[in-house]
Amino acid sequence: MSALDQLPVVVIGAGPVGLAAAAHLHERGLPFLVLEAGDTAGAAVRQWGHVRLFSPWRYNIDTAARRLLDEAGWAAPDLDALPTGAELAGDYLQPLAELPQLKPHLRYGARVEAISRLGHDRLRTAGREHTPFLIRLADGDDLLARAVIDASGTWGTPNVLGASGLPARGENEVTAHLEHALPDVLGTERDRFAGRHTLVVGAGHSAANTLLVLAELAAEAPGTQVTWAIRTNSPARTYGGGDADALPARGALGTRLRVHVDTGRIRLLTGFSVHALTPTDGRVAVVVRHADGSEEQVLVDRIVAATGFRPDHTIAAELRLDLDPIMGATRALAPLIDPNEHSCGTVPPHGVDELAHPEAGYYAVGMKSYGRAPTFLMATGYEQVRSVSAALAGDWQAAHDVQLDLPETGVCNSNPVDSTGTDSCCGPAPAAAGRGLATGVSGGLLSAPLTLITPDAATESQTGGCCGS
Ligand SMILES: Cc1cc2nc3c(=O)[nH]c(=O)nc-3n(C[C@H](O)[C@H](O)[C@H](O)COP(=O)(O)OP(=O)(O)OC[C@H]3O[C@@H](n4cnc5c(N)ncnc54)[C@H](O)[C@@H]3O)c2cc1C
Repeated sequence: MSALDQLPVVVIGAGPVGLAAAAHLHERGLPFLVLEAGDTAGAAVRQWGHVRLFSPWRYNIDTAARRLLDEAGWAAPDLDALPTGAELAGDYLQPLAELPQLKPHLRYGARVEAISRLGHDRLRTAGREHTPFLIRLADGDDLLARAVIDASGTWGTPNVLGASGLPARGENEVTAHLEHALPDVLGTERDRFAGRHTLVVGAGHSAANTLLVLAELAAEAPGTQVTWAIRTNSPARTYGGGDADALPARGALGTRLRVHVDTGRIRLLTGFSVHALTPTDGRVAVVVRHADGSEEQVLVDRIVAATGFRPDHTIAAELRLDLDPIMGATRALAPLIDPNEHSCGTVPPHGVDELAHPEAGYYAVGMKSYGRAPTFLMATGYEQVRSVSAALAGDWQAAHDVQLDLPETGVCNSNPVDSTGTDSCCGPAPAAAGRGLATGVSGGLLSAPLTLITPDAATESQTGGCCGS
């Protein structure tokens, strides 16, 4: 056994996928150490603990984790029930983390700040593969590892409101009015929304979830107004596959949302790309600029940015990563999950081969592996870590024998969609260019004159429906 083999595999993050990795590594007899920035298992999941998952328990429990829990006499939940985030953390992740096979190998309050190779910066090649990884923690500690499974998720790096991927003008000056995705509207954060006008920006499940609870609040608390802004011309993708969705709860999200929009309880603004935010008499004027240079604005009290998440690769900046330029996932995985090309929510079975980087022994798994793709499911991450753990144990046959059965969304198509993952209802959206090709920027958008919005000029916008009608 080499000196490298005696070092642990370091797993970053004790979320569902990091803990599943720990269970597989234990079964494989490999030494491991899980480093978690928070002070509990499932620290990120607990932050959206009030949200009910759309996948039932049967999809949310890893097989190796289940074996260990069963041995310990765990009372398994009803596999057809839908847990909340709090239940996922409290009833599954916490008991898993408490198992004697895992607990001694978990370290909380351990935020990984950077990963490198001992004595090898990114430039140095000689002997690199036989050199331990160096993990630097925020508290200054340095640890050595034989391999790194990075399951640190994307929850800590939400996308900005600005449609260009950069903060909208003034975005950083209205933070007092801005909410992270999925605030607890009916619970601890109710007072911030009751009797106020809230704008929800985004077209994914997080936006749908928040809109539904805001609509519920509006029925109880007089004066509560709800506006929903999406940057494409149609909410079709958010409405989803309805009854055709293999996960009924996921399908129902869109169906319920559509009813609220159709009955006017939620006001929908399409073609709304946030350009600027201006504080206005204790409220915020949210300005959209159209391609022809015209502007409209909506005046609100609170803004929920449900614009998705992006991976933070900075901790691995000293490693040799080969990332797809669109998705920020590996080049092998990216084309399988790119929302410009897929909408089914499924992905072909994949594992160690698709997750490998030029930096041998480093794997980003779980939510982080998907980069900016919005369709990650825990079941995918569980198969990823099963395959990676088998490969680290040298069992290449098991590592390559990848299996995955994911529930489809019921809105499968192969037409390109725009980068928000939302269909164009005017036929295929403009081809988002081939993978790796540069896309053009509308000259009109960049050269348009900027009209400053004053409080006096503030009027609420009503943009057109599909295709600008
Ligand atoms: C509201 C919501 C609902 C969802 N519903 C479903 C669903 O129904 N079904 C489904 O399959 N999926 C669902 N997902 C998607 C996904 O499966 C979950 O986000 C899941 O939690 C991802 O697991 P993960 O382990 O990859 O990441 P996370 O759960 O985000 O865990 C990452 C962990 O890493 C820690 N961490 C982060 N940075 C560091 C660092 N530098 N050092 C050390 N630790 C760090 C975090 O504290 C966290 O505990 C949902 C996601 C959201 C946000």
